[in-house]
Amino acid sequence: MAGALAVGAARGVTLRAAGSRRGRHVVIAIVVAVVAAVVAPVAVVVLLVAVVVSAVTGVADTDSMSVAEGGTVSYAVDGSTFVDNDPTANAWGGYANGQIPAAELCPVPTARWHQARCDAAAAFGDLTAAFKQRFGHDITVTDAYRSFVEQVQLKASKGFLAATPGYSNHGWGLAFDLGSGMNDYGSAAYAWLKSNGHRYGFFHPTWAEPDSPDFAKAEPWHWQFEPSAQQAQRQATAGTTDATPDGNRALGRSMASTRGWASSQWACLEKLWTAESGWNHRADNPTSSAYGIPQSLPGEKMAAAGADWRTNPATQITWGMDYIAHRYGTPCEAWAVWNSHTPHWY
Ligand SMILES: [Zn+2]
Repeated sequence: MAGALAVGAARGVTLRAAGSRRGRHVVIAIVVAVVAAVVAPVAVVVLLVAVVVSAVTGVADTDSMSVAEGGTVSYAVDGSTFVDNDPTANAWGGYANGQIPAAELCPVPTARWHQARCDAAAAFGDLTAAFKQRFGHDITVTDAYRSFVEQVQLKASKGFLAATPGYSNHGWGLAFDLGSGMNDYGSAAYAWLKSNGHRYGFFHPTWAEPDSPDFAKAEPWHWQFEPSAQQAQRQATAGTTDATPDGNRALGRSMASTRGWASSQWACLEKLWTAESGWNHRADNPTSSAYGIPQSLPGEKMAAAGADWRTNPATQITWGMDYIAHRYGTPCEAWAVWNSHTPHWY
């Protein structure tokens, strides 16, 4: 690249010189061309190094930056702290973030110039098909998989809005930046995605949720894919294979996130429903008519969230979350009440 630029610079000057009729100008032009040929590659290299260094360290746009033991990276901008999550949390296939081989990625069905992990691309195809039924067109995709080099460039141009290179879920092929109204928290498209995304394994991270205490960046367009949540939903809907407690947990985590509950609230909910049912959507209390993941008493109450309340974990989780929100406000409040008396209930 540096070489190509230098040749271009030299040629540009030389061509102008050739157009001049005065020999002295030709001599000056040749001198300028030689100087440009020597200086240009050096300048390009220096510029590239500066961009990479500032992007990786974040010094260009941050007051301070530190990497915690868990791999979390946090940095401050104008007194606010921003955190990028543990880069290994969503790692797969033994690959490094942003360095996934092309053969392991698939084109996004309705935006084939973008790539994602193959299960995420397929799930997005289903998601946008459902969206199209409602809105008459596909969801546009602004960005999906991003290589490490692309993340470096993005960080350099967008500053704190872009994740630190190596820390982005785009680098795992699991994050999508969406258009079609998804750039607006108040749009009908955004509301639709919030209530339907989890059916396809898509959720909105809490750091981009204005109602969440984790809220850090206003990015209504950034959505992530979690296959276990999609799998649990699909199995429950198909009714063929039974969803597993682990799948139900993953579904619960993505639904809590979509609801804007912080990770600390998710921790309380996880404990509460582990104690109640072990996240088994067929948990039937032998001594009462309580049933399902939230142990609704009686189980029939969950019909308020869907007729399939007996078999569908998503219906049960939706009902349980509504119940907690309405009665206690937050999962941690419900968990505190649960612990405050014996036998335990909430
Ligand atoms: Zn994004």
